[in-house]
Amino acid sequence: MVKESVKHLNPYIPEQTLDDLKAQYGLKRLIRLSANENAFGTSSEVAKALEKWHFADANLYPDSNAEKLRQSISVRFGIDATHLLFGNGLDEVIELLCRVILEPGDEVIEPDLTFSEYQLHSQIEGAKIKRVSLDDAGYLNLAAIKKQLTHQTKMIWLCNPNNPTGTFLGPKTIQSFLEDVPKDVTVIVDEAYIDFVDDRHASVIQLTKQFDNLVVLRTFSKAYGLANFRVGYAICNPPLMNYLQAARLPYNLSTFAEVAATAAFQDTEFVKRVVKTVVEERTKWQHFLTKQKLPFYESAANFIFFKVDNADGLHDYLLRNGYLVRNGLKAGWLRISIGKPEDNSAVQKLMADYLTTR
Ligand SMILES: *Cc1c(COP(=O)(O)O)cnc(C)c1O
Repeated sequence: MVKESVKHLNPYIPEQTLDDLKAQYGLKRLIRLSANENAFGTSSEVAKALEKWHFADANLYPDSNAEKLRQSISVRFGIDATHLLFGNGLDEVIELLCRVILEPGDEVIEPDLTFSEYQLHSQIEGAKIKRVSLDDAGYLNLAAIKKQLTHQTKMIWLCNPNNPTGTFLGPKTIQSFLEDVPKDVTVIVDEAYIDFVDDRHASVIQLTKQFDNLVVLRTFSKAYGLANFRVGYAICNPPLMNYLQAARLPYNLSTFAEVAATAAFQDTEFVKRVVKTVVEERTKWQHFLTKQKLPFYESAANFIFFKVDNADGLHDYLLRNGYLVRNGLKAGWLRISIGKPEDNSAVQKLMADYLTTR
């Protein structure tokens, strides 16, 4: 009835709605720090741009090429406009890459502990997943990944900064890795959190000009605060780009999504303010965790991953006190998104109380 690969999937478990959780736990207020959403909302320019939209156009299909958004991004990054592909969230781009590249029996290499959708969509295509442990400090282990390459390897996923560890590898390190990888292996660098890295030259977008087997992924869901609008994109060269374009759904970006993303992309001041606060608050989190003697990985993203005895107990305690954090990624570890300063202090206070009274 269904293809064999689909019978054995570990599906992605989406967030429960805040209303459901509040009802379930009898809470008046619940702050979600489990999905790495932007705690500071989105640019006020987004609402202004959407208000100007003509509702009378609701019956018309959107621009299949998302030309306005495409031009803005192409100009900012100095990338050929035809080397961009948009998706209904980055999720759809991840799905499309697997759909276009993988055949049953192909091998896919991914870090052992990373974003779960790479595995899900590779499995649907019947590919075999090889998972390579992170190093002791939680960094992607590129040397160990290289050792796993075989003639069957079609794809390597590098999430940078990595979700959920937050660890970041610089572009020079990724460049020398690309120089060692055979040209018929597609290397995908997911830069969903790249804006939170405290370095203007963190991205490998420019390396697409040198490597035809490199795909760089970006999303509007995190630093731009547009998770609800579902806009992500890939940057890569032809011929891969042409095959991706041929296989994608023609109207995957609504005009609403394109208008919102274009306005958000232009408001660079908003993103700068968000990133500045996140970086400051991330440092405070690191100080707090150090003081509490809780091990954590060095994060360059808008979340931090830490180890604590009785992680599920702490998760539950925070939830009952109005804060949802992410458990279940690795036994004994929790991932918390960096929130507003007042929420970070409140969670730290709750944690300190929990850890001393246990
Ligand atoms: C959030 C996230 C995505 C998905 O982003 P959407 O554009 O919202 O689909 C992709 N990759 C990583 C690593 C993420 O954390």
